[in-house]
Amino acid sequence: MPEGDTIFRTARALGRALNGRPITGFRSTYPRLTRFHDDTPLVGQTVERVESRGKWLLIRFSGGGTMATHMLMSGSWHIYRHGERWQQPRIHMRIVIENSDYVAVGFRVPVAEMHTTQSLVCNLRIPCSEIDVLSGQFDAKEAVRRLLAHGDEEIGDVLLHQEVMAGVGNVFKSEICFVAGINPFRKVATITREQAGEAVAAAQRLLAANVLEDSSDAVVTYGGRKRRTTHESDSSVSLWVYGRKGEACRRCGEPIRGRIQGPDARVTFWCGRCQPMPDGREIDG
Ligand SMILES: [Zn+2]
Repeated sequence: MPEGDTIFRTARALGRALNGRPITGFRSTYPRLTRFHDDTPLVGQTVERVESRGKWLLIRFSGGGTMATHMLMSGSWHIYRHGERWQQPRIHMRIVIENSDYVAVGFRVPVAEMHTTQSLVCNLRIPCSEIDVLSGQFDAKEAVRRLLAHGDEEIGDVLLHQEVMAGVGNVFKSEICFVAGINPFRKVATITREQAGEAVAAAQRLLAANVLEDSSDAVVTYGGRKRRTTHESDSSVSLWVYGRKGEACRRCGEPIRGRIQGPDARVTFWCGRCQPMPDGREIDG
């Protein structure tokens, strides 16, 4: 599933193609969207802003409506020039927004909703900017408080809770725990406020480093951008622990461990030596 950094970059790219330009065409395979368009035509309106909220992407229209989409596992937005060949079959098209220069196509976007300002404020699933790690309004202190409120859960699971910190996904979860030196299987109750603060700061830092202007689609947390030049898509050269089970820890040389964690059975990676359990217990992996 795309993590917050991917959605952020998608929003930035879509914004460059759509912001401030009058909409000349709109189509969708979703009746709820087309009904909204029938009642309040989007053609003639302009896109005011495209923004990410965690893993949600919001397109704000000048008429006051906002389209919220979530990619889950399969969805993606593409931007084409008129007449340019689409890179996915038309049958996967769910949403098209056109202006005089560009055609934005949402392929296999599984969740798409129209909101008014009111329904967006009241929406419990779409996070507000204060809890979005990549937002300028992100409140780190409050995030620490929300994290610590899940005392009897393992931190690796809690980092995935979008209502704690929106935008962190499964790759960043393992990377954040490594960078903060916290074993992902520790109950939150066993970590200090300071450690929770380090985890939140690491989340901000790692996600922000992946939305720089030259960021590629691969998550990079280790080794800087120059390393990528020879192995563009090889995650093993760009991450501390994720996907590196059995390989040597980049800090201490111990083999990286990996195992399934949590109610959603997500895979977690860590270093037993750099991220010890407080009681010295070994977690198999
Ligand atoms: Zn290590």
